[in-house]
Amino acid sequence: MSTVKLTGEDSINMQLVDMDMTCNVSPAGTSSQQTELPGGAEQQTMRVYLRVRPFSKEELCDQEDQGCVVIENNQTVTLKAPKGSATMKSSEKGVGTSLHKFSFSQIFGQEMTQSDLYEDTVKSQMSGFLDGKNALIFSYGVTNAGKTYTIQGTPKEPGILPRVLDATFHYIGGRLYEGMDLKPYLRTDAQHLDPDQVKQERSAKASILASVKDECDPIRASGRLSSSSTRFSLSYNQTVLASDPTKAGSGQFALWVAFFEIYNECVYDLLQPSFCSKSKKRAALRVCDDGAGNAYVKDLRWINIQTVGEASKLLQFGNKNRSAAATKMNQSSSRSHSTFTMKLLKIDGSTVERISEFSLCDLAGSERCNKTKTFGERLKEAGNINNSLLILGKCISALRNHQTDRMKSSYIPFRESKLTKLFQAVFCGKGKASMIVNINQCASTYDETLHVMKFSAVAKQVVQLIPDKSLESPCLVGRDGKPLVRNGAIAGRALESYLSEEELLDEEDEADMSLLPQDDLVNIIESLRTKLLAERRRNLVQEMEIRKEMGDAMLQQLMESEELRIRQIAEQKESNQEKLENTFEMYKDAIKEHAYQCAMNNLEDDYVPLDEFIAEQEKVEALKRKVSELDTLTSSVGRVLCAVLTVDQSCQTQPSEATEAAGEDRCKRLNKEKCAIEKMCEDKQQLILSLEKRLMELSETLQKIRDGFLEKSADLEVLQRKWDDQTQSMDDILRQSVEKDREIASLKAELAKHSQKSPVQPKTKRGLLANIREAVTSPRNSSPGRKLRKTVKTAHN
Ligand code: ADP
Ligand code: MG
Repeated sequence: MSTVKLTGEDSINMQLVDMDMTCNVSPAGTSSQQTELPGGAEQQTMRVYLRVRPFSKEELCDQEDQGCVVIENNQTVTLKAPKGSATMKSSEKGVGTSLHKFSFSQIFGQEMTQSDLYEDTVKSQMSGFLDGKNALIFSYGVTNAGKTYTIQGTPKEPGILPRVLDATFHYIGGRLYEGMDLKPYLRTDAQHLDPDQVKQERSAKASILASVKDECDPIRASGRLSSSSTRFSLSYNQTVLASDPTKAGSGQFALWVAFFEIYNECVYDLLQPSFCSKSKKRAALRVCDDGAGNAYVKDLRWINIQTVGEASKLLQFGNKNRSAAATKMNQSSSRSHSTFTMKLLKIDGSTVERISEFSLCDLAGSERCNKTKTFGERLKEAGNINNSLLILGKCISALRNHQTDRMKSSYIPFRESKLTKLFQAVFCGKGKASMIVNINQCASTYDETLHVMKFSAVAKQVVQLIPDKSLESPCLVGRDGKPLVRNGAIAGRALESYLSEEELLDEEDEADMSLLPQDDLVNIIESLRTKLLAERRRNLVQEMEIRKEMGDAMLQQLMESEELRIRQIAEQKESNQEKLENTFEMYKDAIKEHAYQCAMNNLEDDYVPLDEFIAEQEKVEALKRKVSELDTLTSSVGRVLCAVLTVDQSCQTQPSEATEAAGEDRCKRLNKEKCAIEKMCEDKQQLILSLEKRLMELSETLQKIRDGFLEKSADLEVLQRKWDDQTQSMDDILRQSVEKDREIASLKAELAKHSQKSPVQPKTKRGLLANIREAVTSPRNSSPGRKLRKTVKTAHN
C-alpha cells in the first residue's frame, strides 16, 4: 500500500480507497485484508458492510430522493450532498467537499434481499460459531435506517437472527442435548445444575413460552418455518453452513439464549417475566468481570432452547418487553441497544468440551443530540446513548491507531461504557466482529448519514487478530460456583486459582460468608483488605484532586469577584467624579448667569453710557473751574468795589458828576453778571447733586451684586466640601479593597497549607462528601484572616 500523507477526512478516504485497491477479493465477493500469521493465527481488517434501504412511499412523496447515495460498484459508494444540507453549505463556503467516497467490504443496495445479505455477511462467522469460535455482528445507523429490519427482519422477510438460529438447529440436527443441566456460567464457563435447578429452569422457560401466543409467532405465522423441522423453506440452502454437520464428531449440542438491552447505561433483562406486572420497576443488571478480563452480565437469564419456534417465541417475548418498557417510560425503543446472544455448548457425555458465543446487537439510533429535543432527564439519556456510541467510536479508532503504530500503546476505553465492556472480549481477539452499516437515502438526513459513513470508515481499518487455537476449554462449576474437580486438577490449573462468582464481585455484593471454611474466609479477608487499601488510596488521591480542584476553583472565583469589585469601584469613582464635575459646572454657569441677569436688570434702569458719563464729568470739571474763576473774579470785584467806595467818599468831598455816573453803570453791570454767574453756579450745583445721587444708586446696585456673588461663593464652598467628603469615602473604599487583597493572600496561604497538610492527615473516616463539604464551608465558618491573627497572637505570646 502506498503511503500518501493527507490530513483529516480525505486522508481516511484516500487510505480506504487505497487499501481496498490492494485487498483480496474472495470468491464470495467479499473483501478484506486477510493474512495468515505464523502459528495459524488469522489477521484481517474488520468486515464492515453497507446496506442501503429503499425509499418508502412517503419519502418519495416528500421528495427525499435527490440522488444523495450513488452505489458505484459493490464496494464503493459516493455520497453527494443535497442542497440545503449542512455539508453543502460548508462546501459552498469552501470548507470540505460536497462529494464523499467510501468503500466497504460489500455494499448491499435496495434490491438485495435478506437472504443475499445473510449469505454474504454471516457465513464465515456462522461457521466459526459452529466450530467453537465467538462472533459479534452489530448494526449501526440512524433511527429508521433499517437496523432492526436487518437483524430481526419481518415475519415475511426474516433477518439475520432467525436465519442464524435456523442454521444452528439444522447443524445440530439430531444431536441436541436435551438434559438442560449444563448451563452457561459467567462469560466462558458452564455450570452443572442439580435436578432442583433443572426443574426451575424448565418451569421458567415454560412460563415465558406460555405467555406468548402461538398465532403471534412471527416466524411461524409467516409459514416459512415449520416448528418441527425449524428450517427456512425458501432461502435456506446448505451453503449457509460452512461447517459440515457430518464432521462435527460424536458430541451433542445445547443452545442457550439471552436477550437484554442497554438503556441509559443500565442493562435490563428482556427475558425476565416479572417485568410484565405493571407495578414492578425493571431491575438493572450489573456488568461484572469474570476474573479473566471477560465482562458478563450478572444474573442475566439464560434459557435453553430446543427448537427455532421456542427461540422465536423468546425473541417475541423480549421485543414485547422492550417496547412495553419503552412505552411505560415514554421513550422510543430505538434509543436502546439490544443484544441477542446465543451460546452453543458442545457436550461430550457430561463434560462441556467448548462453548461458543454469537451475539447480534441492534444499536440505538446514532443521530446526535442536537437533532432531538433534549431536556433534563432526556438530555442525560441522550447523553448516555450517544456516550456509549461515542465510546464505541473511541475504542474503534484507538484500536486502529494502536495497530497502525504498535510502538505506541494507546489506551482503549472499553471500560467507559457497558456496551464496549461487553464487546471488549470479541474486539480483543476472542472472536470475530463485523459491522453492518444501515443508511437510508433521504436528503433530509444526509448530514447524519455522512456522519455514520465516517464512523464506518474508521471501523473498517481495525485489524482483528484471531488466534487459531480454539478457545480455552470451559471450566465446569457446581451449584456453589466452585469447579467440579477431576483428578485433583482442572485442565492444569490449580483449584485455588478459580474464584466463584460471589468472590469475583465487588465488596458491595452481599454473600453469606459464614458458610465458607476458615481458610477461605482468611483469604477473602486478605483480598478484601488489599482491595480496601487500594480503594482508600484511590479515594485519598481522588480527595486530594477534588480538594485541589475546589481550592483552585474557589481561588479563581475569589480573584474574579475581587477583580469585579475593583472594576466596579473604579467605575463608581469615575462616574461620581464626573457627576460632581458636572454639578459644579452647572452651578458655576447658573451663578454666572444669575449675576449677569441681575447686573443686566439693574443696569437697564440706571444705565448711563460711559462716554456720556465722562463727558458729564468733564463738564462738571469745567464748571468747577469756572466757579473758582468766578470766585476769584468776585473777590477781585469786591476789592475793586471797596476801592471805588473809598474813591466815592473822597469824591463826596470833591463831587464829580461824570465819574459818579460811570461807576454806577459799572456796578450795575457787574451786579448783573454776578447774578447770572450765581444762577449758573446754582444750576451746576444741582446737576452735580443729581449726578452724585445717581452715583450713589449705582454703587448700591453694585453692592447688591457683590452680596449675591458672595452668597453663591458660600454655596460653592459647601459643594466643594461635599466633593472632598466623597473623595474621602472613596479613599476609604480603596483602603478596604487593599485590606481585602491582603485577606485573599492569607486565604491563599491557608489553602496552600491545607492542600499540603491533607495527604499527611487524611480524614478518610469521615468520608469524601463530608470532607468536600468541609472544604466548601470552612472559609465561611472561620475566616482564615481570623485564624492567621490567632496564630500571630500566639506567636507573640
Ligand atoms: P431502525 O431499526 O434502524 O430504526 P427499521 O429496521 O425499523 O429501522 O426500518 C425502518 C423501516 O424501513 C421499517 O418499516 C422497515 O420495514 C423498513 N426497511 C428497512 N430496511 C429495509 C429494506 N432493506 N427493504 C425494505 N424495507 C426496509
Ligand atoms: Mg430499530
